[in-house]
Amino acid sequence: MKSHRRSLNLFKKSSRLIPGGVNSPVRAFKAVGGRPLFIEKAKGAKIYDVDGNSYIDYVLSWGPLILGHAHPRVVNALKNAAERGTSYGAPTGLEVKLAEMVTSLYPSMDMVRLVNSGTEATMSAIRAARGFTGRDKIIKFEGCYHGHADGLLVKAGSGAATFGVPDSPGVPKSYAKNTITLPFNDIDSVSSVVKKEHRNIACIILEPVVGNSGCVLPKVKFLKGLRKITKQYGVVLIFDEVMTGFRVSLGGAQEYYGIKPDMTCLGKVIGGGLPVGAYGGRKDIMSVIAPEGPVYQAGTLSGNPLAMTAGIETLKVLSGKGVFKKIEKKAALLEEGLKDAAKRAGARTRFYRAGTMFCTYFQDGSVHDFETAARSDKEKFARFFREMLEGGVNLAPSQFEAGFMSLAHTDKDIERTINAAYRAFRKC
Ligand SMILES: *Cc1c(COP(=O)(O)O)cnc(C)c1O
Repeated sequence: MKSHRRSLNLFKKSSRLIPGGVNSPVRAFKAVGGRPLFIEKAKGAKIYDVDGNSYIDYVLSWGPLILGHAHPRVVNALKNAAERGTSYGAPTGLEVKLAEMVTSLYPSMDMVRLVNSGTEATMSAIRAARGFTGRDKIIKFEGCYHGHADGLLVKAGSGAATFGVPDSPGVPKSYAKNTITLPFNDIDSVSSVVKKEHRNIACIILEPVVGNSGCVLPKVKFLKGLRKITKQYGVVLIFDEVMTGFRVSLGGAQEYYGIKPDMTCLGKVIGGGLPVGAYGGRKDIMSVIAPEGPVYQAGTLSGNPLAMTAGIETLKVLSGKGVFKKIEKKAALLEEGLKDAAKRAGARTRFYRAGTMFCTYFQDGSVHDFETAARSDKEKFARFFREMLEGGVNLAPSQFEAGFMSLAHTDKDIERTINAAYRAFRKC
């Protein structure tokens, strides 16, 4: 058994100082039992805890580190950038460079505003959509996470449209009542709500592949239907590609599925491990943002040179010839191996992958929305998770999180992962 003594001691201390001992709830091991590991360092595909254990990492800081941890080119660029000062509160050429890279990879984005997190990106995109349309309501989908801004922490009950039940205490009902939540992949429910309510609906926001319910793939008919109906009624279509951007393909899910949204939110990979988010889209919509227009949105550290440098360098490496394909191939290799291991071990699982993100559901039914994802056996997943950790593989501590592949994972890492998975599948 691996020792986790030092992690445990740090957790005891941190629990007195920080709510739940962590600075983001998903980091606690609540869904899988046990205590979180405290990390000392990471390099390439490996992460090392404070007790000296090493793990092959598929969390990758929850998605950003598509080149692996501490990629030499990113680290060197950051060292050089830090020497020149970490923030000026004035515009730099680096921001122009990153904006140029992003808009060329995402042709749907005529203009882009850089922020510090995915939460800021979605919150601001929705504000822009409301300012642009003069409407208040938004439609989101069950199981999609768009950051922790008040009006977005709303879930749906079962059945048809559920209007405004806050998911978290502290979110006023008056806020939540402007959020309509519908089931993912169900175009008919969207049609009927939009037809009835379109005069009040500013935007529809979605994760085009739902990474926050594991890895739920969209029906092409659903995405096409959303594009058609939003165009018809002047509703702004927002793709939240904070996770899927640079992951499903270099140009995100919109490139992969060939759908052009009005607005796009980016985060995670765009910052290469530093805090960066971005929102952008059609010029006429983005022109409402201050100081060009009246919709206010600002940030003391937005576009700071360190964060820009990590983003630019990451996207440079990632856009290199054949690099994305190479990462995707590694993910395909892992997919094949995990499916085969589950089969040999007699485990009832269902595997989904979109480019370089993936999820193993502990059930054999098909998963196409939150309700079907939720049918997974969470106890089995928890056992699997703990066995994998013991076998030297770090997965996200929840059935409803995606796993991520990086450029740094070697064939040997993947083979070790598959072997560990076979042993873990046998035990659950
Ligand atoms: C992670 C995530 C966010 C929130 O981003 P933060 O940087 O954590 O604020 C928003 N939307 C999606 C789809 C995400 O995966």
